[in-house]
Amino acid sequence: MIEYKKGDQLDIDISDMGINGEGIGKIDGYTLFVKDAVIGDKAEVSIMKAKKNYAYAHLDEVLIPSNDRVTPVCPKAKSCGGCQLQALNYKAQLKYKQDKVRNDLIRIGGFDADFVDGILRDIVGMDDNLRYRGKAQFPVGRDKDGNVVTGFYAGHSHNIIPIDDCVIGAKEYADITKIIKEHMRRFDIAPYDEESGTGLVRHILIRKGFKTGEIMVCLVLNRKRIPDTGKGKALYLTGQEELIKALADVSGMTSVSVNLNTERSNVIMGNETHTIWGSDSIKDTIEVCGYDMPHRAITYSISPRSFYQVNPKQTDRLYSLALKYANLKGTETVWDLYCGIGTISLFLAGMAGHVYGVEIIPEAIEDARANAKYNGIDNATFYTGKAEEIGLSDAKITLPKPDVIVIDPPRKGCDEALINTILSTAPRRVVYVSCDPATLSRDLKLLTNGGYEIKEATPVDMFPQCVHCECAVSLVRK
Ligand code: SAH
Repeated sequence: MIEYKKGDQLDIDISDMGINGEGIGKIDGYTLFVKDAVIGDKAEVSIMKAKKNYAYAHLDEVLIPSNDRVTPVCPKAKSCGGCQLQALNYKAQLKYKQDKVRNDLIRIGGFDADFVDGILRDIVGMDDNLRYRGKAQFPVGRDKDGNVVTGFYAGHSHNIIPIDDCVIGAKEYADITKIIKEHMRRFDIAPYDEESGTGLVRHILIRKGFKTGEIMVCLVLNRKRIPDTGKGKALYLTGQEELIKALADVSGMTSVSVNLNTERSNVIMGNETHTIWGSDSIKDTIEVCGYDMPHRAITYSISPRSFYQVNPKQTDRLYSLALKYANLKGTETVWDLYCGIGTISLFLAGMAGHVYGVEIIPEAIEDARANAKYNGIDNATFYTGKAEEIGLSDAKITLPKPDVIVIDPPRKGCDEALINTILSTAPRRVVYVSCDPATLSRDLKLLTNGGYEIKEATPVDMFPQCVHCECAVSLVRK
């Protein structure tokens, strides 16, 4: 094999794309990872970092563009780490995700290719694949001239790429960040500086309920709690009343809060949130339909720190699938683990005997209980706790034996202790909702080795323009 070194220039065909959306080309078994190249490109690249079997290369020029290449809608798409697939047309984005799930099931899950092709359904895409995000978290910092900027981090770094209008977010996000930036300039409020740990404003969290139009803003501040003097609202920012007035003028504004985080870490939000104007939460509605069940809509209350799916339209579809896979007849005991604010739990409750939801964030459980009450649902019980601790002998939460378990873990997937609990409680069905095909495949291997059979898996595109991929899986005990 030829030994390549830094600076070497080559012409290559991009034949694949990696987990971060980078182009992959091969020459004589040597692999090149090329950021900004897309599958189908013929490109001139130069090697930046060479290893024994692979190298990272810079895209110098696209010699013959792929048929699937398009001009990104956002002018910052290349530098911003938020979207990785904007240079691919949407059909090719869907194929990339479908292939990723298939390959992970084969390579990581160890399933036979024919078997995978038998159970894997086509990815559920969406027509309007811009302006879909109901949530954005903008880091706040300074540009090289010292101006206050908001935007998103560049890939694998904490350099803020200034972005006013994010094309996958709601239109109002730009108005809101502008108001806050202007306020910070006017009152000389410093953004947080990660190096020194000084400065005040760290992040701006914005949420919009697409069906209700309600908007929430939460400013994450580098400061400790201000003692309540009993004279009304504590002042967390200079000119707080002016800022509130400007934000309250944004159409749909429902809640303005501050979250306090003095930790020198990458964790965005701290444990304390204080509402400084309006409600503590916003509301949004999710509607399920199809798959032989009655159309139902449930309205949820969402606090700043609670998890809520970022793509409301696709959430309707994802939950419809989860319900179809749960296949409830009306009497079952169901566990909904990693339940967040009870989103899936409350739909399940409409078709089950009783649902038990477990979730680690206490505010989310408070939301879940309030949501059950608000929607008149009395057969769902929620507990704050770790999903992996449920089955342990000294567990604080003891739940009745389930007929069906629904799991919807974060990207790292399920802890092995939870897989063991599922196998020992042996429910008839398991519904796995996953946001990472790799950890999903790892966990499916354990579940199938433990006596479950995969009936169907359907990827759902919750994150158009981005590499992430959601997937719902139906498992039945053999
Ligand atoms: N099913 C919900 C939430 C899914 S996101 C929905 O669709 O809206 C995953 C959730 O798992 C988050 O709410 C997160 O706070 C929670 N979580 C993370 N680690 C957990 C753990 N070890 N035990 C229980 N919940 C956990």
